[in-house]
Amino acid sequence: MNGLIRKSVQAMAGYVPGEQPRGEDVVKLNTNENPYLPSADVQDILSMVDIAALARYPDPVCTELRKAIAQLHGCEMENIFVGNGSDEVLALCIRAFVERDGSVGFFDPSYSLYPILADIEDVEKRPVALDADFGWQMPADYAASLFFLTNPNAPTSLQYSRANVESFVEGFGGVVLIDEAYADFAKENCMDLALASGNVLVARTLSKSYSLAGIRLGYCVGDAELVGAMYKIKDSYNVDYLTQEIARVAILDQDTMKANVQAIVETRKLVADKLRELGFEVVPSETNFLWVKPQGLSAEHLFGELRKKNIIVRYFGDDERTKDYLRVTIGTAPEMFQFLDAVEELVGGGK
Ligand SMILES: *Cc1c(COP(=O)(O)O)cnc(C)c1O
Repeated sequence: MNGLIRKSVQAMAGYVPGEQPRGEDVVKLNTNENPYLPSADVQDILSMVDIAALARYPDPVCTELRKAIAQLHGCEMENIFVGNGSDEVLALCIRAFVERDGSVGFFDPSYSLYPILADIEDVEKRPVALDADFGWQMPADYAASLFFLTNPNAPTSLQYSRANVESFVEGFGGVVLIDEAYADFAKENCMDLALASGNVLVARTLSKSYSLAGIRLGYCVGDAELVGAMYKIKDSYNVDYLTQEIARVAILDQDTMKANVQAIVETRKLVADKLRELGFEVVPSETNFLWVKPQGLSAEHLFGELRKKNIIVRYFGDDERTKDYLRVTIGTAPEMFQFLDAVEELVGGGK
């Protein structure tokens, strides 16, 4: 033990992001990025940037960007918090809404960052195990200060019905952060719950549907008092000038985002159909990835064999609940044909 470092920090494991190999010939299907280009308006705004503006601090409260987001969701700027990726939004929720002796809830499996954020703040974790079909049944008398409800869920790709989420929220005494990182790929979403309830925030990110994981921009929508509390405690300049500009034009260009989403949803269906033909279990996806259980060889073996072919998917091997599955991001159609060819060859060749 090092007496200089907080005990809780020494005890915790850090978050391990998916690997980011650089290289031309890698088919990268492991971190749910978008394979298509962001809005062309992003290129335009970057070429118009006046570097003199970079000498000044950015707008600390992202006024123009929040106006654009508020317009998109039909609410006021006061209902929008903007952060350095939705990861920052999640971290600030714990700091704003959970007392030292409070607790953070989430489903298991879901986004593996939640328990780590709770560990960082040294607050109690109250995970709720999903059942065998990755649905939920809340334990009697369950309570938590804050619940992270991922919908559609990752890594399972399933969407919980709006009706289920609504009744969860109504019966819950704390704050519910509905993490809708993948909602643009889904049939429905719960944005209206955020604007109708005092204890619900809905988080979105530009990392997936807007093809902008590189700029780090996430936001949440909800009750102005909750949003105001988050503004009190954030870093003074948590979103830089370039990110504010890029995000604003990307949000205003809904057509490009929707066209990219459409392409991914079509490819998703094609890949899911083909994998089912090969005997794989494919969970019905409402996201930009598939959660699949291979047939004929283990998930771990297939992961390793694909890797040898420079095709990188995600494997969560250290958990009983996830070790038989792979999470496969939907890339471009050519990338997915390469993936399917490799899978077919490996499955055909037996174990
Ligand atoms: C990708 C993802 C995020 C992170 O979004 P960023 O804006 O890139 O930080 C948050 N939640 C879930 C469930 C995700 O899959």
